[in-house]
Amino acid sequence: VIELGQAEKSITTTCAYCGVGCSFKAEVKGNEVVRMVPDKDGKANMGHSCVKGRFAWGYATHPDRITTPMIRNTIDEPWQKVSWETALNHAASEFRRIQSKHGRNAVGGITSSRCTNEETYLVQKLVRAAFGNNNVDTCARVCHSPTGYGLKQTLGESAGTQTFDSVLQADVVMVIGANPTEGHPVFGSLLKRRLREGAKLIVIDPRSIELVKTPHVQADYHLKLMPGTNVAVANALAHVIVTEGLVDSAYVAARCEDAAFQQWCEFVARAENSPEATAAITGVAAEAVRGAARLYARGAVNTSADAGADACAKRHNAAIYYGLGVTEHAQGSTMVMAIANLAMATGNVGRMGVGVNPLRGQNNVQGSCDMGSFPHELPGYRHVSDSSTRGLFEAAWDVSLDPEPGLRIPNMFEAALDGSFRGLYVQGEDIAQSDPNIQHVEAALRALECLVVQDIFLNETAKFAHVFLPGSSFLEKDGTFTNSERRISRVRKVMPPLAGMADWEVTIALAQALGYAMDYAHPSAIMDEIARLTPTFKGVSYARLDELGSIQWPCNDEAPAGTPIMHVDTFVRGKGRFMLTAYVATDERASKRFPLLLTTGRILSQYNVGAQTRRTANLVWHAEDVLEIHPHDAEERGIKDGDWAGVASRAGDTVLRANVTERVQPGVVYTTFHFPESGANVVTTDNSDWATNCPEYKVTAVQVVAVNQP
Ligand code: SF4
Repeated sequence: VIELGQAEKSITTTCAYCGVGCSFKAEVKGNEVVRMVPDKDGKANMGHSCVKGRFAWGYATHPDRITTPMIRNTIDEPWQKVSWETALNHAASEFRRIQSKHGRNAVGGITSSRCTNEETYLVQKLVRAAFGNNNVDTCARVCHSPTGYGLKQTLGESAGTQTFDSVLQADVVMVIGANPTEGHPVFGSLLKRRLREGAKLIVIDPRSIELVKTPHVQADYHLKLMPGTNVAVANALAHVIVTEGLVDSAYVAARCEDAAFQQWCEFVARAENSPEATAAITGVAAEAVRGAARLYARGAVNTSADAGADACAKRHNAAIYYGLGVTEHAQGSTMVMAIANLAMATGNVGRMGVGVNPLRGQNNVQGSCDMGSFPHELPGYRHVSDSSTRGLFEAAWDVSLDPEPGLRIPNMFEAALDGSFRGLYVQGEDIAQSDPNIQHVEAALRALECLVVQDIFLNETAKFAHVFLPGSSFLEKDGTFTNSERRISRVRKVMPPLAGMADWEVTIALAQALGYAMDYAHPSAIMDEIARLTPTFKGVSYARLDELGSIQWPCNDEAPAGTPIMHVDTFVRGKGRFMLTAYVATDERASKRFPLLLTTGRILSQYNVGAQTRRTANLVWHAEDVLEIHPHDAEERGIKDGDWAGVASRAGDTVLRANVTERVQPGVVYTTFHFPESGANVVTTDNSDWATNCPEYKVTAVQVVAVNQP
């Protein structure tokens, strides 16, 4: 905190939007923020920001903020404003009533990637210690849960390998299913800088994202695949790397499990995985796949087919950055493992300029996962069935912990509909807008006997709530966020909580009302407990964060200042493990009735479901979700640019304004999900990733027709 003059100060905090985690200086007059200035000392952003972050403070004092707790007996009744004490006691007695009638496992909680590490830690602690089960999940379920699974299986840690500025040492960058200039703008600018300096670019995406062709940047290869065929493309790339002798054999021999590597080589070398065989599935020309594989494996030294292993002798740096276009598929986890296989095979893990880098959507997706928000894992990704880990937490929390994994979010919905799950505490998430097949989600929420929603706005989910607990914005509390590069940064209180209590205080009070005491004077004490119980956070404290500015975990005795690059000499799991990644076509196929494939994404000026950005000055730049459709498909349907288009899937239908463009290929349509009115998730289905249940948002078979009015 720097005093600037009479009644003015500047407080350093962290942007609450995307996974870049930019550091800002909030300039305050009295209790009001007057502007946010990007912090030149911020290690994730180095003085840069995007339009979203600069205007982020606008929503904190928006008139729509709810600042008084409310209750009602049924969702058809009007809300009744009550005291904090009444609301918390009502919620607690409802949860206890449900448990005594339907059993301990009939209630659960959902944490938020928009809340701090300390807050998500407390919600999972409340579920485990006060509810007595593991029915806790996080919105990472619907975005990067396959990253956690896939990277743990192959590399041994559920996190990205690099620091953002590592990209400045990359010779080749492969961007898969990500749109950094819109979704992660500050990192997108850093990447463009490296590309302008001459790094080569491969884009794998069904749509022509800005990076494919923008002033001074042009992708060397754009593999414009059909949605749902990522794994087939990755296997074809691997086929070329193995059959053309492009494997970094010395690296693999020293660093990876040999038997698994040999099996993988045998698998990817099969004719069915060749670029020629997969072209009919993916829609990508075999020569483009061969060229991209050679470029990734050995750089721009010589991209002809006969350069062979000699070209590999000169080590170059190739980095992969990927996003939700990888994870939100029926084979999301398979694709994450396929990406790790490519990086290990070419020796591209463990130094600057290389790596496997998930671009996390929300500000604290990494953190919410780190903090044990999964039904099968305690903080630090340790399985609940492990008795020694459980014993550690049982001693610290003074409870017995359930060794059985709890319910994932989609399982909660199923259990609500079959009557075995009756009560839910949701902190900072809008599952009735963000989750797929909204009709199904709404039916499940309607079936609950007690839904407690804690949020800054009366969101879509609150329509089904019985108790509303006012939340606090990032400006009203202390805590930490962890960004995509595992960087833990401080969130500092800039103004008092509008509702009188910060989110972490509300969870403590709810636990108290449930009869379980949590005793923390400040979020720093919560972080101290996290550090005591989580080996990768052992050296993290608010004092160290103030001293160093930010810390990338693991931070412990071996790495007291944190770990910018992971897996340097050995992988976290010891030897890297190649996994077999057979391509399996998704069940969500185009048909005569639904002949187009819809895929979804986001735009620069909006964030996630838009609850925050729609309440800032951003709104003037983009006021609706639109449907991108190829000119051929539009003409066939009599749709002109700007017309209304009806979009129907097996799950539901909506109406969007058409944007006729060649950004999408024939047979593919695209939209965003920032506005509840257009309801993109009304049409997405509840198909999901085989390993993690991450929804298949990126592939929905639809029909599109011209309509007159929405
Ligand atoms: Fe940085 Fe992302 Fe915030 Fe933009 S939205 S300022 S890129 S953290």
